[in-house]
Amino acid sequence: MKHQPFDNWLLFDERLTPDQSQDLDQHLQDCGHCRGLQQSLEGVANFFRDSSEIEPISGFADRWQIRLKQEQLGVVAARHRWQSWITLILIANGVSLLGVLLGMTFFNTFDSLTELFMVSVYRLTSLLTVINIFQNLLAIVIRTIPGLLSPSGWAILAGIVSAGSLIWILSLARLARMPGRA
Ligand SMILES: [Zn+2]
Repeated sequence: MKHQPFDNWLLFDERLTPDQSQDLDQHLQDCGHCRGLQQSLEGVANFFRDSSEIEPISGFADRWQIRLKQEQLGVVAARHRWQSWITLILIANGVSLLGVLLGMTFFNTFDSLTELFMVSVYRLTSLLTVINIFQNLLAIVIRTIPGLLSPSGWAILAGIVSAGSLIWILSLARLARMPGRA
């Protein structure tokens, strides 16, 4: 049996004139080969239509859900990071203030040269400790910058850091004047 041009029409899904359409229908009734071809092609077409309709929709919904969850988790994680290292800054400021106050107490209480030396060593040690803490904080800041881009957050942070630094500098300046007074 001659299958041309019918299998070409089927394969390439060609637009047919009413006459061609009638010829094709006639041929399909008589020819099992072309009927089989038509059914296979319909099956393939259905497969692509189904998968192109259903999969992207569910895939998109899943991706959307995942993205939403990731964003929510990101916000929570950023907030946790924030809280933890604001706490760290406050602790660092507290520690440095405590160090300065202790240093001042030492200065007021003891007067001999040995004690002065000891206090100087103590002060240097606490200063180095505070510098170390600030270095660590800086490292944390640099690591967490991608999650810390909220402008108001930066403003609060700048306020805390500058207030802490100011307290520290003022305390240090006061402490530096102490030997003259003692
Ligand atoms: Zn045929």
